Amino acid sequence: SPSIVWLRDDLRLADNPAIRAAVDRGEPIVVLYLLDEESRGIRPIGAASRWWLHHSLTALGDSIAERGGTFVLRRGAAAEALPKLVDEVGAGAVFWNRRYGGTREVDAALKTSLRESGLEAQSFQANLMHEPWTVTTGSGTPFKVFTPFWKACLEQGEPRASLPTPQTLEGVTGVDSDDLADWALLPTHPDWAGGIAEAWVPGEHGAHERLEQFCGDGLEDYAAGRDEPSQDATSRLSPYLRFGEISPFQIWDRVQRGQLSPAARRNAPKFLREVGWREFNYNILFHFPQLQTDNFRPEFDAFPWSKPRQEVLEAWQQGRTGIPLVDAGMRELWQTGYMHNRVRMVVASLLIKNLLIDWRVGEAWFWDCLVDADEANNPANWQWVAGSGADAAPYFRVFNPMLQADKFDRHGEYQRRYIPELGTDDYPSPIVDLKESRAEALEAYDHLKNAQ
Ligand code: FAD
Repeated sequence: SPSIVWLRDDLRLADNPAIRAAVDRGEPIVVLYLLDEESRGIRPIGAASRWWLHHSLTALGDSIAERGGTFVLRRGAAAEALPKLVDEVGAGAVFWNRRYGGTREVDAALKTSLRESGLEAQSFQANLMHEPWTVTTGSGTPFKVFTPFWKACLEQGEPRASLPTPQTLEGVTGVDSDDLADWALLPTHPDWAGGIAEAWVPGEHGAHERLEQFCGDGLEDYAAGRDEPSQDATSRLSPYLRFGEISPFQIWDRVQRGQLSPAARRNAPKFLREVGWREFNYNILFHFPQLQTDNFRPEFDAFPWSKPRQEVLEAWQQGRTGIPLVDAGMRELWQTGYMHNRVRMVVASLLIKNLLIDWRVGEAWFWDCLVDADEANNPANWQWVAGSGADAAPYFRVFNPMLQADKFDRHGEYQRRYIPELGTDDYPSPIVDLKESRAEALEAYDHLKNAQ
């Protein structure tokens, strides 16, 4: 009886324990991707992510076909669509890799019901190097602070080596599949994805090319260069990690066990520590699945957010605030589906602090526009900037975007790249007085403190 491999946030053939289990079982395999926008705990993906998903599934489908495999696309709630496919193909086993957010209950219920029907149903560790329930403080509670969390992860020892790509995948014929085009994941009228297509090559190949390029180049200067948005000093692996086109085990393998120059070797721990932030945020999400909707620190529930005025919000979204570093970042996001980390912090701080707009409003915009929009990293980082998160920046630390620009984009290269009209009459004057609004933000924070 065939095996079904149900892929979700792990759109890769290499280092995929669920696929490995199916291959080892020795029966024909159906690889399934389910577009599930209905199950409880699912957050439908944003527009830029839909673009990415389309291309990622195309690339994956090609790789599966090259190996003789069967790739099936279906749409619907997992609790119905998966058992239906099981019946159709007469499957004897279902394998998948774990998720860590609100959909865990869906997976757990399916595992139980499949097993009750006599099937083999098994889930695997694939997308985090450290399963959240294995990393705890001395007293057995989850970590809420990054540095001791990462230290505890490192003390667990080296993560396992990554698994090779299967050479062949024996398929099953005659299984119905949706046509990817019918899912309409790509924008049409207007097609706003031109800049995104120029910037990215979704899929496993693209991920490994990017990693190789980074190991040979950007990593050498990572610690010093990672804060400068005009430099290409970071890996840009985030969307690949988000969709699981590359796993953290593969990154660890390449960086810790592969060939590097001495300079790159010196920078490796700093880079892996950032990958560790992703593990930390998933650890937070695992223990606090309402991360996207609720303040991690409940005292922030009393924060006096202002009602966003439409024209102010649009100026921020469209990169017309008159504050160059912010506008450059928001335009980079719109054009390429990505924004440099330093600039993400600055634009988020302006929205939350100078404009006093609830972090959830900004998080939702990022969710729609980022190709790396991630259910753990996005809300966790917004809460980090807001001060409401675990191990967050204190609220009273307000970024000054002009000073940030002086420090990290000294020659204005990044700002000019995205704002050709900078310095002309066409560029707007600032929508907010940075000094006054900073004082107001601090007053609002005092209000919060006094409310306790
Ligand atoms: P690198 O510096 O090369 O880092 C390597 C990997 O480490 C990244 O790909 C990412 O997986 C992880 N990483 C790096 N920085 C962080 C961080 N601060 N938190 C968690 N993981 C990190 N990252 C996302 O992946 N998805 C998001 O939706 C997202 N939203 C963000 C929202 C805000 C407001 C802020 C301030 C940051 C957000 N980040 C998010 C984190 C960070 O900006 C990106 O991961 C990073 O810019 C991706 O670029 P890179 O791959 O070149 O990073």
